[in-house]
Amino acid sequence: MPMPNAIIGHAVRGLARRTTDLVNLLSRDDADAAAVDAVLRAHGETDPLDVSSADVAAMRAAALRLRAVFTAPDTGAAADSLNTLLARSAHPPRLTSHGGTTHWHVHVDGHDDAPLGEWFLTSACLTLSLVLTDRQRPPGGVCAAAGCERVFVDTGSGSPRRYCSQRCATRSRVAAHRRSRA
Ligand SMILES: [Zn+2]
Repeated sequence: MPMPNAIIGHAVRGLARRTTDLVNLLSRDDADAAAVDAVLRAHGETDPLDVSSADVAAMRAAALRLRAVFTAPDTGAAADSLNTLLARSAHPPRLTSHGGTTHWHVHVDGHDDAPLGEWFLTSACLTLSLVLTDRQRPPGGVCAAAGCERVFVDTGSGSPRRYCSQRCATRSRVAAHRRSRA
């Protein structure tokens, strides 16, 4: 099977980071509307977002369901997880420019004013699907560092990524080194 030549574009990388930032935030017990608002703004949202506690609850449920994609053991299982989520939640793809305020892009939520939970779940599935198809690998994983449950998206072309951050990679290397000397 030939590998696709496409390199994941800047836009998809940005969407992938937004996806993991939200999943990681919403996996914390202290995630609230202000924190969700801050992450969305850090990723370029400018509209009045009016994130409600009901939105946070729906987004938290979405984040839990998205974890199945990140814990999938192989590409086929990750694709199955994405297909299950898309079949339950996604609408037909549609193009939007949000009334001319953004560049044209694809959404699979029901409409431009869909609830944030629906928007988050469907846009995350679309992003993770693009990453999977581009690399023909699972789109990401859960950090291998002890005690870290953070997810990451793997957009690199080298060996599969194992840690959410350089900090966790270093911490794990140091711990392994200590164990080997004990
Ligand atoms: Zn980590």
